[in-house]
Amino acid sequence: MRVAVVGAGVIGLSIAWRCAQRGMTVTVHDPEPTRAAAHVAAGMLAPVTELHYGEEALLALNLESARRWPSFAAELAEASGVDPGYLRCGTLTVARDLDDIAAIDALRTYQDELGLEVERLTSRELRRREPALATGVRGGLFVADDHQVESRRLLRALRSGVTRSGGQLVSSAPRSTEELDADVVVVAAGWCSPDLVPGLPVRPVKGQILRVAVTPTAVLPTHVLRGLDVYLAPRHGEVVIGATVEEVGPDTTVTAGAVADLLRAAWELVPGIAEAELVETAAGLRPGTPDNAPIIGAVDHRVVVATGHYRNGVLLAPVTADAVAELVDTGSVPHEVVPFGADRFAKEEAP
Ligand SMILES: Cc1cc2nc3c(=O)[nH]c(=O)nc-3n(C[C@H](O)[C@H](O)[C@H](O)COP(=O)(O)OP(=O)(O)OC[C@H]3O[C@@H](n4cnc5c(N)ncnc54)[C@H](O)[C@@H]3O)c2cc1C
Repeated sequence: MRVAVVGAGVIGLSIAWRCAQRGMTVTVHDPEPTRAAAHVAAGMLAPVTELHYGEEALLALNLESARRWPSFAAELAEASGVDPGYLRCGTLTVARDLDDIAAIDALRTYQDELGLEVERLTSRELRRREPALATGVRGGLFVADDHQVESRRLLRALRSGVTRSGGQLVSSAPRSTEELDADVVVVAAGWCSPDLVPGLPVRPVKGQILRVAVTPTAVLPTHVLRGLDVYLAPRHGEVVIGATVEEVGPDTTVTAGAVADLLRAAWELVPGIAEAELVETAAGLRPGTPDNAPIIGAVDHRVVVATGHYRNGVLLAPVTADAVAELVDTGSVPHEVVPFGADRFAKEEAP
């Protein structure tokens, strides 16, 4: 079986790795892999903390993928020789004022209704667990099983995993699926996927993000921290601070206003940020869909799509890769991705 994967982002590479492991002949096409959103992404693997109202079907997929992350990371490290940087650190949601408390109490009620494990913390318990927090924080939630991965290391590990399993990475930008000489074409080109599968309802959603580095005087957090308008993800000497969500088309300009807003919000939660070194500002484009859930499935006898992972592409890489490899290999659609076929949008539009 010859498989062409279009796009060397976290989704295309994960699929390519899993397909190559099954003995398929895999070629991944991408003219500019550094455009991948995971190059910029924070890498939170936080289905419970990042729960959104009305997204129960997506929650089930997110939880299933989170469950697969430990073995995916261990297997990838072994196969690639590169540690993908999976960090089991837990996630704290932090309330700064009474409005925040009301919002997190409502979130917790919803999490409880869905049977999710969440611990409510007073401000004292919160600061005992995370001394870097500002003294004025009012309380919060702790989710022990929401973790993170260093998404740039993950991309490196996946590229190595693909080539070590016999796959090929090539610098090319096919403009249509017909021009690819393969039995199956997997379109995983992020927000550009509609260029290859016209009519696919995927759009770019801009996210701006910062990275600060630890200095001798900066007291920085050890857990992922989620404020209501900012998050901080600490890993190996740096903290990622994100992220904006902007509907401005395919624009990756870093704006002074966004940097100021993110830094102010981060500093209000963790005052030590003021002493850290600002080492990077960046913007990436999430592939968004009308219902915020991915599109995974065949669109015809030869073309499979895996895109639209929006704010959860890193989290959803393991379950997406397993499902697409199974679909390409056997022709059957694994049950966990059945609700996420491309045809769901056509059905919604029918009278
Ligand atoms: C600021 C920010 C923070 C985020 N934080 C998180 C997070 O904490 N947790 C999480 O799970 N997710 C997060 N995400 C979302 C996650 O990064 C994305 O959902 C995911 O990276 C999408 O991956 P992808 O492979 O589908 O697409 P992309 O990353 O967009 O990759 C697509 C690739 O296809 C290539 N391409 C495009 N057209 C062609 C063509 N014609 N031929 C060949 N190649 C082509 C591009 O060059 C690109 O490299 C974040 C995103 C952003 C922007």
